[in-house]
Amino acid sequence: MNLRTHPDFDDHEEITFFADPASGLKAIVARHRVWNSPSVGGCRMRDYAGEDEALADVLRLSRGMTYKSVMAGLDYGGAKAVILGVPPAERREALFRAMGRAVNRFRGGFRTGVDVGLTPDDVEVMKTETRFVAGIGAMAPAEATALGVQESIKASLSKRLGSGHLRGRRVALQGLGKVGRRLAELLVADGAAVVGADVNGESVEQARRDLGIEIVAPEAIHAEAAEVYSPCALGAVINDASIGELRAKVVAGSANNQLAEARHGAALAERGVLYAPDYIANAGGLIAVAADLEDRREDWIWQKLRGLGPSLTRVFERAEALGLPTAEAADRLARELIAEAEPAQRSAA
Ligand code: NAD
Repeated sequence: MNLRTHPDFDDHEEITFFADPASGLKAIVARHRVWNSPSVGGCRMRDYAGEDEALADVLRLSRGMTYKSVMAGLDYGGAKAVILGVPPAERREALFRAMGRAVNRFRGGFRTGVDVGLTPDDVEVMKTETRFVAGIGAMAPAEATALGVQESIKASLSKRLGSGHLRGRRVALQGLGKVGRRLAELLVADGAAVVGADVNGESVEQARRDLGIEIVAPEAIHAEAAEVYSPCALGAVINDASIGELRAKVVAGSANNQLAEARHGAALAERGVLYAPDYIANAGGLIAVAADLEDRREDWIWQKLRGLGPSLTRVFERAEALGLPTAEAADRLARELIAEAEPAQRSAA
């Protein structure tokens, strides 16, 4: 495949393929933008169907990180690392050590952290080899992400239904992992009725026991009769199969790349569903990582998180004024902000 004609290629500046035969590590790191400040993005590990699928993932995710960064008023170029294949337990430590050494090759120009498929223990192993892995600073990324999604749900409800309150609203929550579980807690505390789903039986039991939320089968959650559908598991959940079954008025969640294809953003708008672009709604994680990198305190994080609602509202208004799907309006704004940021980011430090 020719990289430059790949459908997800967006003038990415640097794409590096790593192989470490001794540990079995196969990984790709994409730096979408290489600016004066480091390129930032998490490290994800999955049993990809093949290298093509992994490449598409890393290209889309790294571009999304640049968009996320500028929309949150940060100045990091976007990046992402994907590890191809989940190793057996006995090879896990060697693999993450090798990944840590791979991160060192960027000499600080790439900063990474935990994403889907990694545990905090894996990050600790990487840290034995590299200091360029962000940990937990003033707030854990998943906590900040959940708070940002809560803020985004309120802003979206306010736009779509005229009031951002959560009391008595029903929220269908897909994924009860680090973010989904915390979000469920926040929503319940706000008086929402939460119905959740997860493929992991343990997470489901925990949520049912500790939060008393209703649980439905994972394949049914998107079709729940609820005001809000909140995807907090994996991407591409808004697709040809799911879109006709949605009953929510708002889609707002933490998963990256929720739209399987750009045209699904238009399809949502046609159905009267307000979509909160994922990279704005889930920017809390990056904000928390930035706080760690910049040694910021919790009040800085809160201030940034509180900015996500108004940022979404601006996008919703622009979409309305231009007759565009919200995802497209957000992408245009992000590209404008990137173009504005470029001159200063390219100047010698
Ligand atoms: P996680 O791995 O802790 O949780 C994901 C959960 O989704 C797991 O419990 C998993 O069992 C469940 N799941 C997987 N497939 C499912 C399916 N088909 N139906 C229902 N549940 C399913 O990950 P997380 O940190 O909670 O992140 C959730 C999402 O938010 C991911 O897409 C991630 O990329 C995104 N995100 C996370 C952060 C962060 O700070 N953690 C920041 C930005 C974006």
